[in-house]
Amino acid sequence: MTEPQCDVAVVGGGMVGTALALALAREGFAVTLIEARAPGEAWDDDSFDLRVSAITRASQHLLDNLGVWDGIVADRATPYSHMHVWDRAGAGEIHFDAADIAEPDLGHIIENRVIVRALWQALRQTDVERHVPAKLRRLVYDDGVELQLEDRRRVRARLVVAADGAHSQVRELVGIQTRGASYDQHALVATVHAELGNRSTAWQRFMVDGPLALLPMRDDLFSIVWSTRPDEAERLAAIDETAFDELLTEASEARLGRLTLRGARAVFPLRLLHAEQYVRPRVALVGDAAHVIHPLAGQGVNLGLLDAGALVDALCAGRAVGRPVGALRDLRQYERSRKGHNTATQLVMDGFKHLFSNDRPVLGLVRNFGLGIAGRIGPLRRQFEYVALGRGSELPRLSRPRG
Ligand SMILES: Cc1cc2nc3c(=O)[nH]c(=O)nc-3n(C[C@H](O)[C@H](O)[C@H](O)COP(=O)(O)OP(=O)(O)OC[C@H]3O[C@@H](n4cnc5c(N)ncnc54)[C@H](O)[C@@H]3O)c2cc1C
Repeated sequence: MTEPQCDVAVVGGGMVGTALALALAREGFAVTLIEARAPGEAWDDDSFDLRVSAITRASQHLLDNLGVWDGIVADRATPYSHMHVWDRAGAGEIHFDAADIAEPDLGHIIENRVIVRALWQALRQTDVERHVPAKLRRLVYDDGVELQLEDRRRVRARLVVAADGAHSQVRELVGIQTRGASYDQHALVATVHAELGNRSTAWQRFMVDGPLALLPMRDDLFSIVWSTRPDEAERLAAIDETAFDELLTEASEARLGRLTLRGARAVFPLRLLHAEQYVRPRVALVGDAAHVIHPLAGQGVNLGLLDAGALVDALCAGRAVGRPVGALRDLRQYERSRKGHNTATQLVMDGFKHLFSNDRPVLGLVRNFGLGIAGRIGPLRRQFEYVALGRGSELPRLSRPRG
């Protein structure tokens, strides 16, 4: 057999795969990154990505440790210091304030394309071999793994990491099964202007058909994620703009004043997915390839970045005691460190989703009681704030503050 060309081949150059490739390169591993679509490089200053993420403190630290945080903030990132959650009956409300926990903010809202561009720019300063645009076709195992690309190029690696998203081809090629189901909700995303301005607050209202999240951006704009029945999401995407503005303003109880659509609307089906295993000999899954959760808590990419940090820690620990890159023992350590936390987060989010999507009176009572209680009891509120800040688990080195 020919020698592997690299230590780690990462398939998928979204936020998680690119961050992982960069982190591994900085630790001295030989890395190849394979990405199907060339990342966006330039866009009009007044255009906004429909896909945005609420980035936790742990993810902020990881991006800072990778040297890209300051560039992202200089580009476009909106900190928010308050979060207001209420339900459709208005009886239960929780308000989170960063000042209560002596933090400057609760997190940042950032367009996905801004994060991806910053990571790709940093990657170009490293030795990471990049195949883009390039798509995986086959995987062949021997004493390493050979990745055969659609353009007939071949990459030989000691370890393959699947960072290729919810429909991961690597996961399918290696035969890892998943558990999960459709949420029977679609998320409508759009950018809107709020009459009453940004007020440094993220808003979330739970309604019978799903939650409506309004995430603050610059210039009094908000990115909305409106989860609802699939047919209703399609209808909301198709109705004329004035009718949409009215329905959205009503759904938000006009707490931000009149909301006005700015630009396109898009709809994403929502599903729950969890891989049965995160690892196989010479293969590891990270990010959405391993787990997909409801966007209501804005945790998806944050969990994926924790996966990336944990995998780096496991590979470095193995190398420090002389084990070959991707030894199964190190991969299992990675899996142990992340699967429980990801499962727990999925369960909590799923519980919320079911509790708040049900219209039976008894659940309505529990729901109001739950929000009311959570709003009043300090320690429970702290737990919510810790989730927002990404403090819920033993953090990988990269997810801790620099220095
Ligand atoms: C409406 C909505 C709102 C959300 N809001 C938030 C939020 O506020 N906060 C949060 O943390 N998360 C949020 N999420 C979840 C978050 O977007 C995902 O968790 C995150 O994008 C996953 O990143 P990833 O890099 O693992 O996968 P992806 O972003 O899916 O990237 C996968 C990459 O792999 C590439 N690829 C795929 N197949 C191949 C192949 N065969 N060969 C080569 N390359 C391939 C793709 O081109 C892509 O670039 C939201 C999700 C939705 C749907």
